[in-house]
Amino acid sequence: MSGPGLNLHPGATIPFTSRTLAPVVTEWDVAVVGAGVIGLAVARELAEAGRSVTVLERHEHPALEQSTHNSQVLHSGIFARPGTLRARLNVEGIRLAYERARAWGVRVERSGTLVVAATAAEEPSLERVLTNARENGVPGVVRLLPAEAREHEPHLGPCASALWSPNGGRIDAGGFSAALEREARRLGAEVRTRFDLVAAHSEGDGWHLAARTGETVRARWVVNSAGVAAGHVAKLLGAPGYRVYPCLGEYARVVSDKRDWVRSMIYGFPPAGYPGIGVHLTRTVAGELLLGPTARYLDAPVVPERPLTPLAEFAGEAARFVPGIGPDDLAPAPAGIRCKTVPPGAGEAFGDFTVALDPPGRRAVQLVGIESPGLTASLALAVHVGREIGSPAR
Ligand SMILES: Cc1cc2nc3c(=O)[nH]c(=O)nc-3n(C[C@H](O)[C@H](O)[C@H](O)COP(=O)(O)OP(=O)(O)OC[C@H]3O[C@@H](n4cnc5c(N)ncnc54)[C@H](O)[C@@H]3O)c2cc1C
Repeated sequence: MSGPGLNLHPGATIPFTSRTLAPVVTEWDVAVVGAGVIGLAVARELAEAGRSVTVLERHEHPALEQSTHNSQVLHSGIFARPGTLRARLNVEGIRLAYERARAWGVRVERSGTLVVAATAAEEPSLERVLTNARENGVPGVVRLLPAEAREHEPHLGPCASALWSPNGGRIDAGGFSAALEREARRLGAEVRTRFDLVAAHSEGDGWHLAARTGETVRARWVVNSAGVAAGHVAKLLGAPGYRVYPCLGEYARVVSDKRDWVRSMIYGFPPAGYPGIGVHLTRTVAGELLLGPTARYLDAPVVPERPLTPLAEFAGEAARFVPGIGPDDLAPAPAGIRCKTVPPGAGEAFGDFTVALDPPGRRAVQLVGIESPGLTASLALAVHVGREIGSPAR
């Protein structure tokens, strides 16, 4: 069951008369802008609730941006600031992610997260992560002595003490995005690629959305899940108050046998004011060992043609955790661009996730600043958006 107007549940209303405007006009209950994990998860959730949904994506394929250019970590919730939406959706999202990924045949492993205080000076930071974890209700987090930490990661270098979060894990991000798309389509949603939204007009009971090609779509609701372009799309929708700062995250991969030196994930503490949780080591479900991501604000959301971070710098970072990995063991790996809402130099690593019905009374939902752990939180965020929108009759 697919196609405009065919997949409406019995209670849904068709708000527009079916006159045809050139070149293409369709009528949907919800148009989701952006087919990353967030847009696809929202589309799946709303289609399951009985709404007719189209997802509008500018690229030729879904999930070519942040959703497949990240560390592929399922965060347990130890780093998120207590009391934030980000923290709540992280902890709810990881449970859903494990459950659904397994049901959908996506490679996922609950492999655990090790956080290391390399020196005694870093122990207060480790203590703060432990407090965070408790306040966020993250299960099973324990302090470890260095010898206990080395039972998890035998090649671990300097360690004053550590923390183990058994619920952390890793996932095949590409497989997860593909599964979300498949599930959304199975429930009747359409995913329309090469639809680069360039104009939006609030019209009567809904929205008239236009692509660069001239193609148009009508929908009662619009959900803006445009990632790094979410500020721009919000402006198109008449909500100009959102700013997104693109922030590059580069990676290196270990290309020698030393990739086997790490079993799961090892995190440390970045310098004060660093706009992220710091370069870390992640063994992916595919068996790759990634180092990264770095964090560097950009003027425009474009990945530089050549990596900005020398391999020697990555090797230096690796040595903090696992001594013996040199530049010759490394090769550059694809970078991602974060959609940060905290400006450069703000001293805050993360803003909260923004989920806003804006402009008021206009049936538009803005999802802005959905950076890490957005992959982990995606399914919980989708449930949250479903609640914000309310019942299909609304
Ligand atoms: C370096 C890095 C590391 C990360 N590591 C992790 C991690 O380990 N674990 C974790 O949980 N999270 C992680 N994240 C965060 C996670 O990847 C994101 O939160 C998540 O992918 C956001 O998904 P999204 O769908 O909002 O964005 P995206 O995947 O960026 O999708 C947005 C989509 O909107 C489309 N779009 C934009 N403008 C338009 C337009 N005008 N018309 C039509 N389409 C449009 C884009 O083409 C794109 O496909 C990381 C992110 C980065 C960058």
